[in-house]
Amino acid sequence: MPIPCKAGCGKNAMLKRPKTGDALCKDCFFCAFETEVHFTITKAELFNRGDSVAVAASGGKDSTVLAHVLKTLNERYNYGLNLMLLSIDEGITGYRDDSLETVKRNRDDYEMPLKILSYKDLYGWTMDEIVAQIGRKNNCTFCGVFRRQALDRGAALLGVKCIATGHNADDIAETVLMNVLRGDIARLKRCTAISTGSEGTIPRVKPLKYAYEKEIVMYAHYKKLVYFSTECVFAPNAYRGHARALLKDMEKIRPSCIMDIIYSGETMAVKDEVILPTQRTCTRCNFVSSQEVCKACVLLEGLNKGLPKLGIG
Ligand code: SF4
Repeated sequence: MPIPCKAGCGKNAMLKRPKTGDALCKDCFFCAFETEVHFTITKAELFNRGDSVAVAASGGKDSTVLAHVLKTLNERYNYGLNLMLLSIDEGITGYRDDSLETVKRNRDDYEMPLKILSYKDLYGWTMDEIVAQIGRKNNCTFCGVFRRQALDRGAALLGVKCIATGHNADDIAETVLMNVLRGDIARLKRCTAISTGSEGTIPRVKPLKYAYEKEIVMYAHYKKLVYFSTECVFAPNAYRGHARALLKDMEKIRPSCIMDIIYSGETMAVKDEVILPTQRTCTRCNFVSSQEVCKACVLLEGLNKGLPKLGIG
């Protein structure tokens, strides 16, 4: 027997919201999902009218849904934002080359300008070449450090006010768990922040901070959005994978655990003596760093000297 949509619109429900368990029709689900993202944006005052915002676009489900929802909300609520896509080409054959084709499709579908920066142009190395040097053990250290800085460089080139990333509620809950499991309390202090960035740097904001991964997939599916779902060919079975598996198991028993973990991370009191590294400018490249020379420059120096393990520590 059909179940009526819980929102009371008179239509029959066709899905069960993973976050709340509510039986909803498609349109009421879209409305609930988009309204929650709008609420997240306005409550945290993520944007100001007239801001230029770069959406960090990988072609995956999160950044595709983020670009789509930001465009929808910008028009619906007249935010007055100038939205653009910023993609980083790490140079990973069989992964990034294909996903960038999806980003180009996003560019056309959402009518947003797209800027692509490559590791090869910025650093002189592709990830394929880096992996050939260092093997598959520390590849993500290089990739993560280079990507963080590449996004900063791209945002500076585009002259944007902030970078919107597709981090979702599951990503943040996983990071809280990982930091607790590793005893990394300094990172725990800032991993739930919806907006990060110190003075002089371009902030990163997370409009999907409270959106469940399952709902992002559902939204993309029912909206028929085009996204790329293949995993990176160099993806390791890292510690994060275990935190993810633990979270998924707990979600099956109690779906609210994702929000509960984020809430715990947000409200946990951290002793004053737990100090975060202060941010300054790298003396070599002038981009943000916690040391005199940033990690990207140290890693690059190691690669260029034929000593790729130099910066790994
Ligand atoms: Fe880079 Fe692939 Fe590692 Fe992700 S999984 S950080 S894309 S090498």
